[in-house]
Amino acid sequence: MQFPQWLHKVVSNLGRRFDPHSLQFQLTFGIAAMSVLGISSVTFGVAWKLDDLIISSHKKQVEHLAARFSESVEIYSEMMSVEEAIERAIAYLATEENAIWVAHPDGEIAAQSKSLARGGHDRLLLVADRRATPIPKVFHIQDNYWTICGGNLQVSGRVVGKMNIARNITVDRQMFRKLLWTLSSVSIVAIGVITIAIAFYIKRALHPLQKMSQLTASFSAEQLGKEQIYLDSAPSELHRLESAFNQMLEGFHESWEHQRQFVSDVSHELRTPLTIVSGYLQSMLRRGSNLSDPQKEALTIASSEADRTVQLLEDLLELARADSGHLHLRKEPILLNDFVTEVVEMAKQYHGDRKIEFENSSQFIEVCADFNRLKQVLLNLIENAVKYSESDPITVTIAREKERGIIHVRDRGPGIPLAQQTRIFERFYRLDEARARTTGGTGLGLSIVKTLVEGMGGTVSLRSKLGEGSTFIVSLRAIAG
Ligand code: ADP
Repeated sequence: MQFPQWLHKVVSNLGRRFDPHSLQFQLTFGIAAMSVLGISSVTFGVAWKLDDLIISSHKKQVEHLAARFSESVEIYSEMMSVEEAIERAIAYLATEENAIWVAHPDGEIAAQSKSLARGGHDRLLLVADRRATPIPKVFHIQDNYWTICGGNLQVSGRVVGKMNIARNITVDRQMFRKLLWTLSSVSIVAIGVITIAIAFYIKRALHPLQKMSQLTASFSAEQLGKEQIYLDSAPSELHRLESAFNQMLEGFHESWEHQRQFVSDVSHELRTPLTIVSGYLQSMLRRGSNLSDPQKEALTIASSEADRTVQLLEDLLELARADSGHLHLRKEPILLNDFVTEVVEMAKQYHGDRKIEFENSSQFIEVCADFNRLKQVLLNLIENAVKYSESDPITVTIAREKERGIIHVRDRGPGIPLAQQTRIFERFYRLDEARARTTGGTGLGLSIVKTLVEGMGGTVSLRSKLGEGSTFIVSLRAIAG
């Protein structure tokens, strides 16, 4: 059977709304459960008490009737025979609800009220004969409820038979049932209304917490110093949490600043001497005609490691500058058709052994960006495509999509697993550490690309399939035209 789509939607919506681990759900559930318990105990307590009152009032009436019947028979018997006295007392006291009858010791009925004489009460007579006692009891006989009491009927101290008094209390019992039903329905509605009201109230009460978590989630490391949490109409406990949190944010901001400053200072201090070392190593290599092969090899390794470290320091400085907001971008209109042609030509010269193609667009695409930074971005992406793929060609294309100018850099390399696709833009993240080291990378290239593109108001993303290659997509705001 197909699960209807709307039902599926409703269930999944409910699933999203009702998180059984959330404070909102647990508070609502707890209070609702307590109100169910409270209201139902009050309802059933009241019902039980009412039932008890009704039944005991009937029992009293039956007891009272039995006493009056005995008295009446006693009085009448002074004026007439005992049999006549019994008949007269029955006629005087019996009604439609109150049946009275007297039986001989052998069980034969001596006299009975009119309602019994009409017949159909055999079971009542039988039950009363067997189970009636001087203390009234309630019996359920053939869809009717009877309060019955019975005992010896004495006249002038002599037992003349067994008297039975039965009162039909069915109407009252039915009324009580209706009342119980109404009371239960009202209680269920009340519980529903209370639960909804409680759920709304708790949702409102927890709103400041939700707001706090939203604000916190939107903070980035760079915003730590600028952002503060502010909850306008929150309870005082949350205000205390808010100020503790803001203090913590300030603390984080300070340590983040120190760390950034430290990285920037260290990179700056190391870059100059290392550049000098690299220069000396290269000049020794150039002029070292009398060097042995192992010495040349050692110098080559030292020189390339020095270059790699200088590159790493340059990248770190660049990121530190971007983090502290000192990355000044000079945005200007750039015609992508000419710009990409030029950059691809430049990349071809660096990587002469690889086939790099540019598929120009017939449409003129102009974007707003910093010329040198965009060149850096594109060269970096082409360099990665060269480094991490072996099959040619590497293809660069441009396109216009609505208000955006798009550059695609596509390689036919091994591709990047889905789980790592967002992570490769993180600092120092590398897919294959061993391979990345041999390619001379620092693990900072893509994070610089991301910082620069986002600084220019654009985005960079990746589409990749294992075994088919990767496409890096740079999207920038296009200039209308
Ligand atoms: P690196 O300096 O190591 O190249 P990047 O930040 O440029 O650092 O890249 C991070 C990692 O992403 C690389 O180490 C590499 O594993 C992976 N990567 C980048 N570009 C590609 C690509 N075109 N194909 C496959 N993997 C890539």
